Formats: sequence, structure tokens, C-alpha cells
Amino acid sequence: METKYYNFIIIGAGVSGLVLASKLVDKYGKTKSILFLDKQLPTLNNKNICFWAKSDLGFNAIINKKWNKIKYKDKNGEINKDTGNYNYYHSKGKDLYKYFTKIIKDNGDAEFIESNIGEIKKNELIVDDTSYTADYIFDSRFETKKFSPGPKCFKTQQRILGWTIETETDAFEENTVTFLDMKLTNTELEFFYLLPFNSKHALVECVQYYDGNLTESLNNYIHNQLQITNYKVLAKEQGITTLTDCNFQRIDKNGVVKIGAAGGQVKPTTGYSLVRIIEDSKKIVEGLDSEIQFRRDNLFYRLCDSIFLYIMIYNPQQILKLYRLMFSRITIDRIFKFLDQQNSPIENGLFLLTFYPYTIFLQLLRMIKIKLAS
Ligand SMILES: Cc1cc2nc3c(=O)[nH]c(=O)nc-3n(C[C@H](O)[C@H](O)[C@H](O)COP(=O)(O)OP(=O)(O)OC[C@H]3O[C@@H](n4cnc5c(N)ncnc54)[C@H](O)[C@@H]3O)c2cc1C
Repeated sequence: METKYYNFIIIGAGVSGLVLASKLVDKYGKTKSILFLDKQLPTLNNKNICFWAKSDLGFNAIINKKWNKIKYKDKNGEINKDTGNYNYYHSKGKDLYKYFTKIIKDNGDAEFIESNIGEIKKNELIVDDTSYTADYIFDSRFETKKFSPGPKCFKTQQRILGWTIETETDAFEENTVTFLDMKLTNTELEFFYLLPFNSKHALVECVQYYDGNLTESLNNYIHNQLQITNYKVLAKEQGITTLTDCNFQRIDKNGVVKIGAAGGQVKPTTGYSLVRIIEDSKKIVEGLDSEIQFRRDNLFYRLCDSIFLYIMIYNPQQILKLYRLMFSRITIDRIFKFLDQQNSPIENGLFLLTFYPYTIFLQLLRMIKIKLAS
């Protein structure tokens, strides 16, 4: 059997693999080798990657569009707000892939192999009669179906279907993102999301927290809510994001380092991950020569994530109440800053007080009761 050695092996050339490799290349240039293994290359083809930030995070070349107005909607009406110091950005997955692979190949020593990876032995991977070894193996494979957090953890799933559509006549308010258009039927929670690229061209998504018919919901939304009957679907994206407050084991028994969704970098309350993945990758690379470190959430934000998840799972009608209070009373700047976990303790206190008379504290007690009983 042939044996090949690399400094780093990265399983999965998706968002976290590419971001991590770009940080490795920043630090080591061509002096260290990287092998990517992914079951399907190129990756991110049908994905849309969005994020909010005060700057474009250096992705100017691949920003497809940015917005500074956001709409929140539910059965009680809509709330429109400016995003203040933040913008909401959209980038096409395929552009993100090209952008990162160019940086990694031009400035580093990287190889990409298409292969469906199964089991990994200690620092060794066997693919088609070749044994690959490395100083570090990073793994971004995450199987939603196989994932089972501990008994004291909350877990739910966002099932997502998105269509990029083109209409015959003007149909979209070009400057405003519909961030959340919430719908609750009995206990079945879903929301719709609308990113208008221009007046005839938009990404419309349905996100369900139950096992429903996504196609039917999205179709109904476009016809009944958006009142659009003549449209073409130009592209589709579909997937599942697991939301959980469990502790992820970052290094497994074979010394393999879990990254991205597999390393718990999806924000449990929103499903967004890009900014967290960037921060986590920086930490990992900084610590490689001494002790490997990971991005960590502080206790306050972990508690907030647990409470919001608890409400979403056990009390979805309350989540609508909470969102309405939040979007009507708090500026988008403050909401994004809170979600980015950048608030000072005083700002956090004030943030929670804005929900008054809705008492987060009561939900905290109920949540603790459920955790203790499980
Ligand atoms: C429809 C959808 C839309 C989303 N939109 C956003 C968004 O706008 N903004 C945001 O921040 N987050 C978004 N997310 C969440 C975000 O996409 C993911 O959290 C992000 O892709 C996580 O990066 P990752 O590297 O962990 O996983 P991925 O980007 O999925 O990368 C994992 C890679 O591993 C490869 N792989 C899997 N199994 C194997 C195997 N056995 N062998 C070899 N390779 C394998 C896959 O092919 C894939 O390329 C979205 C998620 C979904 C489902």
C-alpha cells in the first residue's frame, strides 16, 4: 500500500474546511501541505451563504448583494427597520468555493481529492489502497440522522428549502430583506425568508421546525402571501441544520479535530455559522504550535441559547411573542450584536429587560426543571 504524508488533512471542503485551510495558508504559506478529501467536488454549488456584519469580512469580491433594511412579519403585521451599523450580506456558495480554493492553491500547498470517507484510524486514513497520514486531521462531516446529544440537551432541526425565482413583472422590494415571516399552525412552526436581488429576482426560503411538506409550504407562500403566480425557479437549495445546546466533543478518541457544524459551530438559536466558523478557525490555527484552542461561548450566551431553544421546542407560540417584542423594541444593531455575543454585561441586562413584562426568568426556571427531569 502506498503511504502519503501531509501536515494537515481536512475532511470536507465545505465552509469550515475552506475557512480553516485559508487560515492555515495565511500562517504557513507553502511550507506546510494540506490534503482535502470531499465526497463531492466542487462543493457549495447550490448553497447561498448569508451573514450580517459591520464590514464585508474581506469577502468584497464575492458579495452578491448587501441590504440595510430588514422586515419582520407575523400574523400581527410587519415591522420594518434599518440595520444601522450592520449590513446583511449574500454570497453564492459556488463563488465562496472558487474564492477560497484560489487563495488556498495560489498561496499554499494544497491538494483536493474526491472521496467518500468512512472510518478514520489514529492519524491515518485509507483511501483506494493509499494510506494518508497527517500531523492533524480535521473533520467536518456531520450526519444529522446519526447525531444524538445527551439527555439533558435540547435539539431541534431546521428543514430548509430555498428557491431562487425570477418573475415576469416587478414583484420584490429590492432594498429590504424579509428576515423572518413567521407562521405557527397549532404547534407547527415555520418561517419564510426573502432575499430580493432585484425587483424580479429573489431567493425565497421556507424553514420548518417540524416534518412538513416544504415544497407545498413554499409554493403556497409564493402564491398566497407574495401573490406571485408567474415565476421560474432558477436554482434550489435544500438541507437540514441541527440546532442544539449540547457540548460538542472537539477532539475524538483518534485525535481527529471536529470543525464546523460537527464541532458545534452552528448558533443554536439561528442556524447561522459562517462568522463563528471564522472565529473558531482563527483560534485553532493560533493554537497549533502550542495547545489547540477553540472558540467558546460564555455561560450567559449558552444559557440564552438554551432558553430560546427550549421555548422554540416546547412553547413555539411564545417564541412569536418574544420575536415581536424583540423586533418592535430593539434596534437591529442591538439584536445582531446580541446574536454575535458581543454585548457587555450591562448591554445584556438591558437587552433582557426589553422583553418586560415577558419574563425570560420564568422560562429559565421552566427550562431548568425540564433539564433536571431528563
Ligand atoms: C440550506 C442551508 C442554508 C444555509 N445558509 C446559511 C447561511 O446563509 N449562513 C450561514 O452562516 N449558515 C448557513 N447554513 C448553515 C451552514 O451552511 C452550515 O452550517 C455550514 O455549511 C457549515 O459548514 P460545515 O463545513 O460544517 O459543513 P459543510 O459546508 O456542509 O461542509 C461539509 C463538507 O463535508 C463533506 N462530506 C460530508 N460527508 C463526507 C464524507 N463521508 N466524506 C467526504 N466528505 C464528506 C460534504 O460534501 C461537505 O462539502 C445553511 C445551512 C443549510 C442546510
